[in-house]
Amino acid sequence: MRRTALSCAVVIGCLLVSAQTFAQTATASRMKQQVETLASDKFEGRFTGSPGEKLAADYIIAELTRIGAKPLPGMKDFRMPFEFTAGSKDGGSKVTINRISNGEVSTTGAPRLASQEYTGADTVQALAFSDAGDVSGDVVFAGYGIVVPNSQDFGYDSYQGLDVNDKIVLVFRYFPEDADQKTRATLARYSDLRYKAQAARQRGAKALIVVGGPRSSTGGQVVRAGFDTATAGSGIVAVGASGAVARAMFQGSGKDLDAVQKDFDTGNPHVAGFALSTIKMTVSARVQRDLKTATNVLAYLPASGRLAGVDKPWVAVGAHYDHLGRNPSEGSLADKTEITQIHHGADDNASGTATVLAIGEAFSKLDHRRNLLLAFWSGEELGTLGSNAFITKPPIPLDQFAAYLNFDMVGRVHDNKLIVQATGTSAVWPKLLEQTNVAAGFDLTLQEDPYQPTDVSNFNTAGIACLTFFTGSHSEYHKPSDTADKINYEDLDRVAQFAVSIVKRLTDAAEAPKFTKVEQKTDTAGRAGLRIFTGTIPDYAGDVKGLLLGGVIGGGPAEQAGLQKGDVIIEIAGQSITNIYDYTYALELLKIGQPTKVIYLRGKERRETMLTPAARK
Ligand SMILES: [Zn+2]
Repeated sequence: MRRTALSCAVVIGCLLVSAQTFAQTATASRMKQQVETLASDKFEGRFTGSPGEKLAADYIIAELTRIGAKPLPGMKDFRMPFEFTAGSKDGGSKVTINRISNGEVSTTGAPRLASQEYTGADTVQALAFSDAGDVSGDVVFAGYGIVVPNSQDFGYDSYQGLDVNDKIVLVFRYFPEDADQKTRATLARYSDLRYKAQAARQRGAKALIVVGGPRSSTGGQVVRAGFDTATAGSGIVAVGASGAVARAMFQGSGKDLDAVQKDFDTGNPHVAGFALSTIKMTVSARVQRDLKTATNVLAYLPASGRLAGVDKPWVAVGAHYDHLGRNPSEGSLADKTEITQIHHGADDNASGTATVLAIGEAFSKLDHRRNLLLAFWSGEELGTLGSNAFITKPPIPLDQFAAYLNFDMVGRVHDNKLIVQATGTSAVWPKLLEQTNVAAGFDLTLQEDPYQPTDVSNFNTAGIACLTFFTGSHSEYHKPSDTADKINYEDLDRVAQFAVSIVKRLTDAAEAPKFTKVEQKTDTAGRAGLRIFTGTIPDYAGDVKGLLLGGVIGGGPAEQAGLQKGDVIIEIAGQSITNIYDYTYALELLKIGQPTKVIYLRGKERRETMLTPAARK
């Protein structure tokens, strides 16, 4: 991060600008009205695909129509729908325990089996990432089902000495309850259900059953399906089951469930699991992935002059208009008492939405040599889904875009500070910003990094010179209290006017900004706390088995290994990869500086390369 002192070129200039904007302009009051509307209770926090999102899209379209913007060439209206996974539900999963009765045999001589079926939401539920399917086989109990990678020098493997190949594995949820704090802290990192499922799958298990042990805080309750935006299964059948199912599975094993859990709860790595050899089971997982449709809103203002001779005839400005809605499954920073309230998202991102509308309004009265695309993304809070859908199936060829400017959380200017990110994407940005800021008079901070957790990252990946504007985080971020009364409207208007002057230069310049690929030190692949840097940029919306790369970070290990956008990683460090979660867990196995084999698909061709992970900085 580089802080640039591009503050007021002349102090007097600053004072003049402040005095000028002290009187509220017409656009400032219009923006206030727009933010108040979008962030009102009626729009219910604009969650992706929700009725509130639809109301917001209608409102934005009405505003676009008012200012005379048009649907994009080739599109019949302003809406660009896209599909996403809103969550998943159990679709009637069940497990069947076939008990091998004592010594009894059937007429064919095979052991007689007594069959017991368990079903119902309080008894069995498919986990959100489960494959759908029916599997039958022998059953092995594997304690907490936790494997701490060797790289951690910790020595804990629930599968040590157990043969689970082609079998059904039963594990406890969570991690040993009575272990010392350091042990708990280490084991907790590998106790995520996704990780447990991956560990079981890597050892050849064909199904995983997870139960809350009787000594756990949720003792005996079935593990809920959970929230997961995955569009595909994780390569294993995985269900949560109630304590009653676990007891039935233990029945006849000669072991007591409570006593067994107590042993495991010591955290002693030598406490081992065992086969449940008096039963065979069938696990039938049914998952209903809830596919929903969300909507980007796209409009444009056609160039006023003739386009002849203009390099790249489009400039785009955009903002996400979705937010977290009410009672979001993830993303909220509200405490338990507030989480069910509407998350209004006035700053995040009614402010950016109003800014893009203000830019459109200004350009409806200004001459401009390039077409101006006005984009309003949905799905940003779920992982920049809307802008990703646009980049994946662009209604206008991406090589026709001269630049993209993004506005995400621009309503909370304080002390005249404005942050502009992604300035490393073109050499023209620092000077252009400095020149236009002479009139605007912000205390600017420029940050080169385009790998931001917002829509701008998709445009960077697409090789388009881009910027994103931001007035900083605050204590109301992702809480119901991000409300319209906390927006600084005078300065929001100044942000819009500043943007207009930048866009005017971009639409009118004979030459488009040249894109520069930024070398990057941070990795967007992982969860918090990963120590390994591979330089891969996953495409979260990809519906493929493996890790689809949306791009690679310039100069990073992945690029050096020859990986590129569109490649699908299917194995790394000997771990098969079916999705992003497998990949992040596999990263734990890598050693910094030690080359590791990567198997990937380029088109239909299976390829191999060596990647040398670097340390995350
Ligand atoms: Zn947000």
